[in-house]
Amino acid sequence: MSFVFEPTPTVSLPVVGQPERFPVRRVYCVGRNYEEHAKEMGFTGREPPFFFLKPADSLVVVEAGQTGGMPYPSLTKNLHHEIELVVAIGVGGKNIQAADADKHIYGYAVGLDMTRRDLQNEMKKQGRPWCIGKAFDESGPIGPITRKEQAGDVNNAEISLQVNGVDRQRSTVAKLIWNIAETIEHLSTAWELQPGDLIFTGTPEGVAAVVQGDQLVGQVAGLGSLTIDIQK
Ligand code: MN
Repeated sequence: MSFVFEPTPTVSLPVVGQPERFPVRRVYCVGRNYEEHAKEMGFTGREPPFFFLKPADSLVVVEAGQTGGMPYPSLTKNLHHEIELVVAIGVGGKNIQAADADKHIYGYAVGLDMTRRDLQNEMKKQGRPWCIGKAFDESGPIGPITRKEQAGDVNNAEISLQVNGVDRQRSTVAKLIWNIAETIEHLSTAWELQPGDLIFTGTPEGVAAVVQGDQLVGQVAGLGSLTIDIQK
């Protein structure tokens, strides 16, 4: 087969402890999946979470032990960090029951759902799609995948983010409104999941702005850390 131009290369993530990489298909994200974050965004925390997507090529892939770089994006004056546990799907399916969800998981990673909050808020106000606030170029820094067998008790892991060494977000994955299995159940009623899909599971409270020159270090216990510099 020949193409009229070179096809975009497949985005892939490193996998801890093995040479093969994880090819990314889609990037699903869950909105308001921690009660205290929903409250800080002006909601009650009792509304059900919901989904949106980022393009796969908006990920900033950070190799193991490296510091990644994210350029400060255009159009915004209020770039927010959202530290998130990311689930990597290894086996596809639709209408997956929560009790069976674990069979579909390949592993986990630490990710940042970077958000142009001013643009997102404006779109919310106007009832328009969030793409410009959430799905912009280089909006999804993410580290290596840890296979689930090596990841420990992710459902109860501490999740945290420091900016320039100061704690901004600290919680536990146990506080997810839809836990990992329930998220897979809900998501797979709306889309058929496929190997290579990623799910950003939502952020706990403490989201705030970053500026050029800031260094972000995020962790989920058992999955290592993700370090990103915000560049010019
Ligand atoms: Mn998010």
